[in-house]
Amino acid sequence: MSIITFRFRVKDSVTGKHLSRHAVACNQVWNFCVATQREAERRRKGGLPIRWPTAFDLIKLCTGSAAELGLHSDTVQTICRQFAASRDLHRRCPRFRASFGAKRALGWIPFIPRAMRIDGDAAVYLKRRFRFWKSREIEGDFKAGSFVQDARGRWYVCFQCEVADDLSAGNGEIGIDLGLKILATCSDGTEVPALRHYRQYERALGKAQRAGRKKLARAIQAKIANARKHHLHVASRRLADANSLIVVGNVNAAQLAKTNMAKSVLDASWSTFRNMLRYKAARRQAVYVEADERWTSQTCSECGSLGGPKGLKGLEVRHWVCNECGAHHDRDVNSARLILMSGRNVALQSTGILSG
Ligand SMILES: [Zn+2]
Repeated sequence: MSIITFRFRVKDSVTGKHLSRHAVACNQVWNFCVATQREAERRRKGGLPIRWPTAFDLIKLCTGSAAELGLHSDTVQTICRQFAASRDLHRRCPRFRASFGAKRALGWIPFIPRAMRIDGDAAVYLKRRFRFWKSREIEGDFKAGSFVQDARGRWYVCFQCEVADDLSAGNGEIGIDLGLKILATCSDGTEVPALRHYRQYERALGKAQRAGRKKLARAIQAKIANARKHHLHVASRRLADANSLIVVGNVNAAQLAKTNMAKSVLDASWSTFRNMLRYKAARRQAVYVEADERWTSQTCSECGSLGGPKGLKGLEVRHWVCNECGAHHDRDVNSARLILMSGRNVALQSTGILSG
């Protein structure tokens, strides 16, 4: 089973004010949790044997507050649980959520199915219908969800649904070399171009920022993010549909991001792309592997000798001929082929075929 999130834009011109009101109330619950936690920490520092409040404790302390805050009681409980989970994960007290001012937290109203009914193109919360643009059908079992706000102040409704992993995969095998100028080069020679939205919109963004037009700047940023996500979805879906083995190089964006290539690396969104490939493969019961890609720029995929270009200078060499066997290589396709080979070994080992 996989959990996938369906996200829809809420028709918020009329209902947005109700969501904003709910969001303020949610922040109040959250901030109450923060205050309770801080108080417990303060007392413990003072030598009192105080344990940290659990989600259960917080829920108990919040009993009866839902009606007063105009929230569903399940929403209050979900916030308490999320608070405790976030605190335990990061091992420190989360921050307060400001409802107003420059550091305002983006609106967030979590719910569980008991508090929410999906009725056609409307999400019914506390008897109020929040209509949304239903751009696709909702599949699977609805487990949890939330109303969320983006930087532009627009509202979205998200439904996390559990779906069966029953999509069919192709029978191909593919190695993928992630790069800066080209997002992904595949072992079959195909490419996924990096959409340089940031570059494309950079000027407009800079101009808007300098002119102090915050709203416009946020709109451009949101546009960039949406276009990039769409591009990555389309590309990863095409790869997941066609292949039963997907191998991606483990090149680390953080290592390269220290250099002046940082912007391009971040723009290329490697980690997002990997995540999409991973869960799309899982839904199709395909195998997804990340393989070590050291040496792949120097090793020949035909004869296995280290006959390729070396060092950082070599990064500029796109085509080369193997010293040993004379094979002509496109650097990135060669890397992708080696990645596929090493991924096959990993996949075989993990399924136990090679272990005997
Ligand atoms: Zn060779």
